[in-house]
Amino acid sequence: MNPVPRALIDLGAIRHNLGLVRRHAPKSRIWAVIKADAYGHGMEAVASSLKGAEGFAVARVAEGRRLRDHGVHKPILVLEGPIDATDLDAAQDAGLEIALHQAWQVDLIEAAARRRTPPAVRVWLKLDTGMHRIGILPGQLSPICARLRRLEPAVSIVGLMTHLANADDADDPLTAGQCETAAALARQLGLPLSIGNSAGILGHPTARTDWVRPGIMLYGGSPLLGRDAAALGLRPAMTLISRLMAIQPRDPGDPIGYGGTYRCPESMPVGVVAVGYGDGYPRHAPTGTPVLIRGQRAPIVGRVSMDMISVDLRGIPDAEVGDQVILWGRGLPVEDVAANVGTINYELLCRISPRVAVEHLNGDADSPCHEHKAR
Ligand SMILES: *Cc1c(COP(=O)(O)O)cnc(C)c1O
Repeated sequence: MNPVPRALIDLGAIRHNLGLVRRHAPKSRIWAVIKADAYGHGMEAVASSLKGAEGFAVARVAEGRRLRDHGVHKPILVLEGPIDATDLDAAQDAGLEIALHQAWQVDLIEAAARRRTPPAVRVWLKLDTGMHRIGILPGQLSPICARLRRLEPAVSIVGLMTHLANADDADDPLTAGQCETAAALARQLGLPLSIGNSAGILGHPTARTDWVRPGIMLYGGSPLLGRDAAALGLRPAMTLISRLMAIQPRDPGDPIGYGGTYRCPESMPVGVVAVGYGDGYPRHAPTGTPVLIRGQRAPIVGRVSMDMISVDLRGIPDAEVGDQVILWGRGLPVEDVAANVGTINYELLCRISPRVAVEHLNGDADSPCHEHKAR
């Protein structure tokens, strides 16, 4: 029996996409960004399958520890850095590298250096070059550096990083300025530099620095506004699948689902698919959002419920109960669904709920995850 819904994760596609990062940034080392359960793709399985990456980046210390528990020995970078003393201890014990983005984190490290013995904390200075979320402003960098250098060898500063705010728009002038500021400071400090996220790697050569940090592109998502993932050479890794569980002939004027927000314009077959917001399918998906049945697009109609959605089957008269329905992935780019819903591919991928059965395909023989055959 095949559970519904299922997220089929093609690990071969993720490795292919890593290869594309390599081709765009051949001189860079790669932090494969696998935060948020690898954007919904399963952090452990993705880590096991990305043997080619030099390291992994996660948002939080707990995610880094999960990777260590899974037996990952490579460098792991915590992009948000530690949020308190316990977090810093945990990061040190697990040998995680941390992004340091405010003076207050230097206080934490100073206190820890008095309190405990090594391992040394490996620190990436996180510079704010225009994103204005987290990061040290360029003018505040040298006092922080000086304080950290006094703590050596309990601390070692291993790199400088910054995050691009508008790299998804190839024409935005902020990106060049961000890259320049960071590059100048890295040269001055003699530190390796990390800039490129997926959009930077694909769209901005100056973001292809010593280390790059691809996330969404590893999963086959397009990071560039209005640019098709397939045209960029990316392969979608996640295909979210469910099945048609009912088909009913409806009469003209029949309202469909909660609130009756859709009324049938004529006699028509309406199918019901076993997926809803309880699985992470977005409740705000409006009438018209496409699903794929028998290789053809059909629009959803009416409101998304917790466990079900309704679809207009007028264009697919041979559809039968039990048919496979693709919500996004192979044959239906997640970007198309996201555009209908008014969100981005990132959000749809990483909000898949634990109720969805995740199955990994094309895993390495020695990876701990099981291989399954796609239907
Ligand atoms: C999430 C994240 C990335 C990856 O971004 P993508 O757009 O998914 O490639 C890189 N760097 C930082 C600091 C991040 O938070």
